[in-house]
Amino acid sequence: CGIVGYVGPQSALDVVTAGLKRLEYRGYDSAGVAVQADGGLATAKRAGKLVNLEKELSERPLPAGSTGIGHTRWATHGGPTDANAHPHLDNAGRVAVVHNGIIENFAALREELTERGHELASETDTEVVAHLLAEEYSACADLAEAMRLVCRRLEGAFTLVAVHADEPDVVVGARRNSPLVVGVGEGESFLASDVAAFITHTREAIELGQDQVVELRRDTVTVTDFDGAPADVREYHVDWDA
Ligand code: GLU
Repeated sequence: CGIVGYVGPQSALDVVTAGLKRLEYRGYDSAGVAVQADGGLATAKRAGKLVNLEKELSERPLPAGSTGIGHTRWATHGGPTDANAHPHLDNAGRVAVVHNGIIENFAALREELTERGHELASETDTEVVAHLLAEEYSACADLAEAMRLVCRRLEGAFTLVAVHADEPDVVVGARRNSPLVVGVGEGESFLASDVAAFITHTREAIELGQDQVVELRRDTVTVTDFDGAPADVREYHVDWDA
């Protein structure tokens, strides 16, 4: 439902949770965050309203970190439980992904992954993406490339945003039939399903096109198609009041 990603000098956790709050009007049934910290990923997720996640974060604080992603979920596959809330992780806990939309061919991918020894922990269509990203990343060690390879195997509508513990200060996003916008700041970058999530930080935006992947770093935004060919990007100024 709502997606936020951040890389930069601020506390990723604060930027991401504030961004999720600004998308709250959309309605959702669970929420979660993941931040890069101490060479790994720290996550928290809770069914229900954002206050439930905030309560969890106040009882079990996560490291602030400089890179993070967050999600508010509108369940389509699997009930609104803590386990089905996003982010979803691979079995090693090295990659975290959030998703809007529906992966139509998730059942076949799930079966394939189970045969290869993956253990899936949720009932969502989304979780297969975390496991597939982990497999591709272990071969290419490049999260944007792993995302391109995985997207080529997915059917349906999706906005995906992911972080990998082995790729510090990088957030990767992808979209097909579902919106994703980049916010270009000074030494910081944002990703969101709606500009409202980052408008208090920057008004310079790039709308991702159909079947594109973006690699976000503090000072660079790189957009390609699913085959890796560089894409034309058009930065625009958001001039409406949020
Ligand atoms: N299909 C995914 C799920 O049920 C994502 C739903 C959404 O767009 O929030 O978890």
